[in-house]
Amino acid sequence: MIRFSSAPHLMRGLSPLRAAEGDLASGVGHSVGSLLTAKDIAVRFPMPSHFLQRHKPVLHALRGVDVSIQKGEAFCVVGESGCGKTTLGRVIMGLLAPSTGEIHYDGTRIDGLDEGARRPFRRRMQMIFQNPYASLNPRMTVRQTLAESLRYLGEGMSRTDIDAKIEETMLSVGASADWGKRMPHEFSGGQRQRISIARALITDPEFIVADEPISALDVSIQAQVLNLLTKAREERGLTYFFITHDLSVVEHFGDRVAVMYLGEVVELSPVANIFDAPQHPYTRLLLSAIPRIGGNAFKAERVPGEIPTAINPPKGCAFASRCPLVHDRCRVENPKLKPTPTGTLAACHAVAS
Ligand code: SF4
Repeated sequence: MIRFSSAPHLMRGLSPLRAAEGDLASGVGHSVGSLLTAKDIAVRFPMPSHFLQRHKPVLHALRGVDVSIQKGEAFCVVGESGCGKTTLGRVIMGLLAPSTGEIHYDGTRIDGLDEGARRPFRRRMQMIFQNPYASLNPRMTVRQTLAESLRYLGEGMSRTDIDAKIEETMLSVGASADWGKRMPHEFSGGQRQRISIARALITDPEFIVADEPISALDVSIQAQVLNLLTKAREERGLTYFFITHDLSVVEHFGDRVAVMYLGEVVELSPVANIFDAPQHPYTRLLLSAIPRIGGNAFKAERVPGEIPTAINPPKGCAFASRCPLVHDRCRVENPKLKPTPTGTLAACHAVAS
């Protein structure tokens, strides 16, 4: 398990309780008091089909997702590969258009904006990608990469201003100013991710989508990069949409967490509540799959079964084929998110409301 410091809760700018109050006050899916709101987001991709097929196959990557992110919080999204978490991040960033639904940022609807109208939001909203080897242009020096991002700050920056901004940002991520002359292939994975973070921070954004920013790195440097993201949050008042498959990262980094399964949010909770009293059967299985040291051995259970295909998903609850609590109603009626006694929202017929 990754350890940041002896008091990880002190690194959180917004307490889980406060985040929960914000969520209950605003209601999931409503934009009151939220920096970013995704309303009823669906993403569908038509699949190749035979011309004789009456029902064309459709991949349902997201199915009616509602999330509302408060200013200053670290909102984590967790789930197995293929659950739709990266797709949701790409929709939020405008890299992928939703089939239906709306994205609102700071009171403005931003899905469907043309490039010119989107431009101010590209400065305010930045993304850090999973793979620092692929996300940096191999033919550009570090300085050229950072200078390119600065174009969102507007025309007319002098070379002196650009150089000063690059140097200031590089130093803030623990990079040496002389890295600017070098090419990406000259750096290690951890150094490249620092450069990627500098590229995201150089426009002084408010909101960052971080898509598995440490999963491609050696375990030995994952904590360093997470500490850097935490420091940037504290110094700059950042809001994070943090995508991960690792609940131990959520435990130390997040204020609230959305658990996703087959394109839907199945549990939405303050981080502390989800570790103390997970409500959805899938969340409980995910938690049981975290390696824990018991005596001299790790005890880890895998979530049983395989995630079903997102092509024409089942009518009822998508988790029914793997759920130990499945009953007849689950196979015909897809449960909606509803409040639970522990203050979380869970989509499950077997959870008391
Ligand atoms: S709705 Fe039914 S199948 Fe789905 S998670 Fe709840 S108990 Fe399991």
